[in-house]
Amino acid sequence: MTPITVAYGDGIGPEIMTATLEILKAAGAQLAIETIEIGEKVYLSGNTSGIKPEAWESLQRTKVFLKSPITTPFGGGYKSLNVTVRKTLGLYANVRPCQAYTPFVPSRFPKMDVVIVRENEEDLYAGIEYRLTQDVFESLKLISRPGSEKIVRYAFEYARQNGRKKVSCFIKDNIMKLSDGIFHQVFDEVGVEYPEIEKNSYIIDIGAARLADSPEIFDVIVTSNLYGDIISDIAAQISGSVGIGGSSNIGEKCAMFEAIHGSAPDISGKDLANPSGLLLSAIMMLEHIGQPAIGAKIKNAWLKTLEDGIHTGDIHSTGNANERKVGTTEFTQAIISRLGQVPATLTVATYNPNAKPVPTHYELTTVIHEDKTLVGSDIFLDCEDISPDDLGSKLEAVTIPGLKLQMISNRGVKVYPNAIKDIFCTNMWRCRFVATDTKNGISHTQIIAQLQLLQIQGIDFIKTENLYNYNGKAGYSLAQGQ
Ligand code: NAD
Repeated sequence: MTPITVAYGDGIGPEIMTATLEILKAAGAQLAIETIEIGEKVYLSGNTSGIKPEAWESLQRTKVFLKSPITTPFGGGYKSLNVTVRKTLGLYANVRPCQAYTPFVPSRFPKMDVVIVRENEEDLYAGIEYRLTQDVFESLKLISRPGSEKIVRYAFEYARQNGRKKVSCFIKDNIMKLSDGIFHQVFDEVGVEYPEIEKNSYIIDIGAARLADSPEIFDVIVTSNLYGDIISDIAAQISGSVGIGGSSNIGEKCAMFEAIHGSAPDISGKDLANPSGLLLSAIMMLEHIGQPAIGAKIKNAWLKTLEDGIHTGDIHSTGNANERKVGTTEFTQAIISRLGQVPATLTVATYNPNAKPVPTHYELTTVIHEDKTLVGSDIFLDCEDISPDDLGSKLEAVTIPGLKLQMISNRGVKVYPNAIKDIFCTNMWRCRFVATDTKNGISHTQIIAQLQLLQIQGIDFIKTENLYNYNGKAGYSLAQGQ
């Protein structure tokens, strides 16, 4: 018996979880189930994270979480339960297989079989946000080298263990040269260790367009958090339905399995919900806990049910005379009655009894220490009703010895000195002060002295970003037009 933690969730959650556990039990899954409460009721009881402290004890004990969707109540102040669980349990990899089951589930892409491996902890989901001025709002996009290496290694290991042939990296490093740049660089470095796997990379915009247009050219896609969030829903939808998408969230010690859809309150309690997304997630869980034979048995019974035309309303196509639209309960019984059968047309699910689980803990590349030199500071100001030239003159007059005002930018575009006239400006200005001694750089004391002088002049500085060179190479971007 493998201990697992189960949460029935909200909306259709209890219906699809009951259906899934019934199928797992009938198939002979060896599970010792602990149930926890999460979601709407917990939120409304005043717990802003949607999960009770005692639930963590169960999760830390079993390390395996089968989760139904939850409803996040309206109104502010509620933290995303999913983000909390992912971060607390260190679930750094989100894996979403998106496969077509045509002609039984309609899709324009019958050959589609893509797995999206999304980084799950970093990027804009760090949730570090600020209102900097009356007009300007900021979200910090944080990409780390170790975080990138973990997800890239996981994607290659996943491809290797699952007999996949190609891994594609989706990034936007033509614009975000540093953050997306390190992700791409790590992909190229790590990829060398997997010579048998084909590798390529796409800028996210054209990559997403190709995925939506020709998904069959992709095999495994690895990408950062936000891009992965967006493209995995696109991929699930064009494979047939978001309603049948399953996912795993994998960490070094724990794993969580859930459908990709929400709690569907519109059909809750009506016996209309399709349990397939959660069921496919549970099959991933069975593989994870070393019961892949049971997983394959369930998958084959599910495929046979689809082939026999027994469908819930969300994937029912009225054009086929052999199809029968059923509710959650009847769909569940149809799967149970087919346990032991295999599909005739769709690919039969198989498993390798000797397969090892995809490793989740890696010795990360030791990076050679680089010399770091402080060469300047971007000081961000909140100034109303001032022209770029007037602000530039004002700052030139109060620049301390050893620093020089190199440029001012607004919304990333250089507006001082010698800028194109009439560029639209907000009230937030980035003022780049750099060392006059470019070899030795500046000290923190000089930055503090500069800030003090600005404060004495009544100039409102809202934040600073230090400019460092690493082994002489700039660790910051230039302004557009600089
Ligand atoms: P949703 O996925 O719940 O529903 C979108 C549409 O798809 C609805 O018409 C619904 O009836 C249908 N649908 C979804 N799953 C289905 C299924 N299994 N069978 C048949 N039809 C299905 O998205 P939403 O309406 O935007 O969100 C509803 C609630 O779910 C919100 O409170 C949201 O915060 C929450 N949510 C939770 C999760 C999660 O817990 N992982 C994920 C997404 C949304």
